Amino acid sequence: MPDINCGRYHGFSGEKRIFETLSAFFSAGRFPHAVLFCGGNEIGRKTLADDLAQILICKKRNGFNACKECNSCIKMEKRIHPDIIYVKELSGSGKYKVEILREEIRRGSYLPNDGELRIYIFADVDTMSEICQNTLLKFIEEPKSFNRFIFTAESDRAVLPTILSRVVSIRSDELGDDNVSEETSESQNLVLEIAEQAVRALSERDEYMLTVALSRVKTREIMLSMLTLLPEKIRNSIFYKNNVLFKDFNLEKLIKIFKKLEVYIKEQDFNPNLTLISAAYSAGIFEEVQD
Ligand SMILES: [Zn+2]
Repeated sequence: MPDINCGRYHGFSGEKRIFETLSAFFSAGRFPHAVLFCGGNEIGRKTLADDLAQILICKKRNGFNACKECNSCIKMEKRIHPDIIYVKELSGSGKYKVEILREEIRRGSYLPNDGELRIYIFADVDTMSEICQNTLLKFIEEPKSFNRFIFTAESDRAVLPTILSRVVSIRSDELGDDNVSEETSESQNLVLEIAEQAVRALSERDEYMLTVALSRVKTREIMLSMLTLLPEKIRNSIFYKNNVLFKDFNLEKLIKIFKKLEVYIKEQDFNPNLTLISAAYSAGIFEEVQD
């Protein structure tokens, strides 16, 4: 566990849960290539982004902790690491510029300077213009194996769904159910979007896509609706889509998936924390998908 000093992530609550989740991805060898820290307080989000970058780039990492002593860690703390790129700061104006994004995309195809990874930090991605977001999309759609992307946003409402559908979202606990439960139709659309993405992910046996889809679940109500909808969506896609989806799934495998979903639906009453269960569900469902 990183040194979670009291107040280090001031205003972005849930740090223990966040590091447990990230650490679980990491130790399973399934660390997402794109992570979004969303909600809470600006300083908390940016501190988290920096700490995650340092853990990923550290050369003497111990578990999921940065050593804070190696060359990489020291360069990172001085903000002079050549492979950690604060994209928003490159323009000098405090705003994203499309030409700078294009240049970074071009440079992003070269190998990192110092180590195995290059980390792009996109602060306040919700302040990006639509043109910039569309440009960025090309960057994260087919990422090079050595590039990682860390985003922060006050809210994901101004972030394009096409981007959200490719990043693992991690929300501050303070963005509670109250903030989103009012917008019923928005929630229903989200349930549908997530369910459709999950169906595609299952059909294509793409665990990353499934993790991303479930990370978009903002409340326990949305999780429950989505889990309940999923079997129907899977059945529909088998019967009405000319067998394009799930064509190499036998009945036994589908039944296993449905049973797993039933277990998770029953669990909804007592399981405490959303990001952690999203990650666990995605791994659990995926177990049933594999041969
Ligand atoms: Zn280090």
